Amino acid sequence: MRLILLGPPGAGKGTQAQRLIAKHGIVQLSTGDMLRAAVAAGTPVGLRAKSIMDRGELVPDEVVVAIIADRIDQPDARGFVLDGFPRTVPQAQALDRLLAERGLKLDAVIELKVDEGILLKRIEKRVAEMAARGEKIRADDNPEVLKGRLSAYRAQTAPVTGYYADKGMLRAVDGMAAIDEVTAGIDRLLRPAKAVRPKGAAKSRRRKFKTAKRGKRGGRAKKAKRTTPKGSARRQRPSRVKRSANKAGKRKNRTRRRLTKAR
Ligand code: ADP
Repeated sequence: MRLILLGPPGAGKGTQAQRLIAKHGIVQLSTGDMLRAAVAAGTPVGLRAKSIMDRGELVPDEVVVAIIADRIDQPDARGFVLDGFPRTVPQAQALDRLLAERGLKLDAVIELKVDEGILLKRIEKRVAEMAARGEKIRADDNPEVLKGRLSAYRAQTAPVTGYYADKGMLRAVDGMAAIDEVTAGIDRLLRPAKAVRPKGAAKSRRRKFKTAKRGKRGGRAKKAKRTTPKGSARRQRPSRVKRSANKAGKRKNRTRRRLTKAR
């Protein structure tokens, strides 16, 4: 399964991605996590990305596209959920090319719809919880940088939803609902759609027969015209089952008669 999760910072993409990987045995490809790892390792990419990330701006497309291209070629990444990528329309186009070259297809693009006014509060809460657990807080998880991340989202990432909507691939889930409800909403989207019977196709042979017998206007089936004169109608031969049932009945009656006679 190959999925994309879209939504602004703090929408819950990471949380839902974690659940999806556990459920479907796929890997999470988060460009944010990969870039942070590159920064921590001091790689050339990391050195280039650090100051951009600290300002809440977007790292150049070619950098993240190269990271993703490398990652999806690794053997464990047959199925994946992309979180934080694509973040611009050119990244989405690059992803299409990468997948097409490898003969791969996306199964779904899911947008977590959230009220932006509440995002700031959510992230503040996340930071407070991380601090309480003694975890390291992200350099860009502060109100000032967050504003920059949100404006980068509005200007550069929001159009990505339009890109997939135009292709008829975008599905939305209410990201403001409780975490479990969001998960259930995503599950519903991923359940295989019921087979749709083409319009006008008969439900079954039996139904087809019935419909055929009905007049063009779909009324009740007309009675077949009598071909033999009234009263002289020959009785239809009962079916094999009926016949054997009759035989059994006759035998029973005979025995009963014999018994009454004997009495
Ligand atoms: P968020 O919680 O804001 O969604 P991420 O962990 O996904 O954050 O990303 C953190 C930062 O990493 C972004 O603000 C941006 O600077 C950089 N980044 C991550 N993914 C991309 C991407 N696809 N394109 C450009 N920059 C990215």
